[in-house]
Amino acid sequence: MKFGGSSLASASRIKNAARIVQRFSKGNKIVVVASALDDVTDKLLELGETAQRGGSPKAKSLLSKLQYLHSKIGRDVSARGTDKQLVTRISGLNLELERTVEGISHLRELTPRSRDYLLSFGERLSTLTVATALRNSGLKARAFTGAEAGITTDENYGEAKPLTEVSYHQIHQFLEPSLSRKEIPVVTGFIAATVEGSITTLGRGGSDYTASLLGVALEADEIWIWTDVDGLMTADPRIVKDARVLSNVSFGEALELSYFGAKMMHPRALQPAVQKRIPVRIKNSSKPSKEGTLVSVNEGDSSGRVVRAISIIPSVGIVTVSGTGMMGAPGVAAKVFQTLGSNNINVMMISQGSSEAIISCVVSRKDVEKSVRALQLALLGQGYVEKVAAERDACIIAVVGGGMKGTPGVAARIFGAVAQRKINVRMVAQGSSEYNVSFIVPEARGPDAVRAIHQEFNLERPPGKS
Ligand code: ASP
Ligand code: MG
Repeated sequence: MKFGGSSLASASRIKNAARIVQRFSKGNKIVVVASALDDVTDKLLELGETAQRGGSPKAKSLLSKLQYLHSKIGRDVSARGTDKQLVTRISGLNLELERTVEGISHLRELTPRSRDYLLSFGERLSTLTVATALRNSGLKARAFTGAEAGITTDENYGEAKPLTEVSYHQIHQFLEPSLSRKEIPVVTGFIAATVEGSITTLGRGGSDYTASLLGVALEADEIWIWTDVDGLMTADPRIVKDARVLSNVSFGEALELSYFGAKMMHPRALQPAVQKRIPVRIKNSSKPSKEGTLVSVNEGDSSGRVVRAISIIPSVGIVTVSGTGMMGAPGVAAKVFQTLGSNNINVMMISQGSSEAIISCVVSRKDVEKSVRALQLALLGQGYVEKVAAERDACIIAVVGGGMKGTPGVAARIFGAVAQRKINVRMVAQGSSEYNVSFIVPEARGPDAVRAIHQEFNLERPPGKS
């Protein structure tokens, strides 16, 4: 069971998480994975960046807020403040955090490696608190860091990749003894360590990934992700008021949704589970009796529904490179993507018409200017690219469903529904997995496009009645 930051946002949320574990512990062996408390990772990042500019009052205040937060929650979770050990260990980590920040401001240097070390405090602190809450509800619990649980990674700080074979072996070796003593291991999500033992992180949202790795290594029956929504939905309920929770989705569908949905999952988290076919369940920690969404090998919808869900990614822009000289000139696309890649710009969608005179890339809106400048510098004046242009007002609509594969006419219905609302489609892409069709519309028309498709495919009705 992995608890996300929002499920651990306060002492009472942490106690709620402990009650959930207790409730499901009857007849089950459970391993708990804890994220940092809500927002703490962002705050640590901000702290690191502020400290790097020197020991300013702002850095001091960010630091003491974080220290206070963890001490306060630690005290509140302790049984009437009597849990001396927790309070002492939190103070210890708070002090270590302070030294780390002093180091960063003294050197005015924040490397990927020291940033990971800094970020690790979020999960190290939360895990101690969660373990205490479990003990206070009568369970045996023991805190582990990712490294103590056996997760070893490469040295790609910030986005480290687990060395899976070693890790699986170690996880088994390090956690089984605890489980057979009927203890509940409480493991820090997101953080691990290199072979040499220096702390790494698995990328933002990486606690899901941790849960999935542990689940696979221990051959879990299911991996449960506790979060603050009821599960994966047919659409954002703020946009479509009769959006529904999907009770089942396939791994393929969940993967597409996790790339496209803001709140879903760490995109790599499903990989280990997919390989070992371990079902993943997404559940709401405020409503633990609800079934949530089960992600499994089964093709989600037995009633053969083609479209399952629609998501929207706001705040993007289109960058277009064009020129008649591009036709039949090999290597232009390579140059475009290399330029964007080396400027650290993430490309979210691509299209090139078969005339080859235009390549369009969708990037985050904050990267539009940077992309244009980089592409102009790299490509103009060499005879093939004549123009680099940008369009800032755009959002991506992604339509996802395993049943779209091989079913003719789905795209026609999608674009028909959108056209009926007089929404102009600027750009289209369909991955050859055929699990998703994505297209671009002006940002203000995005919600309407989502509603049109939701209605066209009757997604508000439970499956079986389509
Ligand atoms: N705390 C980390 C983050 O916010 C990892 C996680 O929450 O899964 O990215
Ligand atoms: Mg988080």
